[in-house]
Amino acid sequence: MKIISPKKAISFLIRERRLPALNEILMSMGITIKKEKPRLPFFIQLEPTTRCNFNCIMCTRKKLNPARLNKDLTLEDFKVIIKQISPKRIQLQGMGEPFLNKNLHEILEEGKKEKNFYYCYY
Ligand code: SF4
Repeated sequence: MKIISPKKAISFLIRERRLPALNEILMSMGITIKKEKPRLPFFIQLEPTTRCNFNCIMCTRKKLNPARLNKDLTLEDFKVIIKQISPKRIQLQGMGEPFLNKNLHEILEEGKKEKNFYYCYY
């Protein structure tokens, strides 16, 4: 005779349909389990660019993955992100100098037009 743990025994019985699953028991009692959608963040931080016109000695920017180094946030990516996540607040800050992104003005206008975002720089 093989001895198994109670947890394995219950799993086996449920799998073999010899015991109803918890959701089946609850449904028979008129209780439905509401599956909630995962909540999306209300605040996101986007990096306008990883380019920079300085070369601070303590900066770790140059250690970024080459696929990410010296890249700008595009207006198209910004539109997709705010459409999919629909955050309430965005902070445009990251490793580089945000004003080096030539699309920054359009990105700010788009956010203001679509979501009435307020922006601040620290
Ligand atoms: S990203 Fe910031 S810390 Fe790095 S070089 Fe530019 S200004 Fe300096």
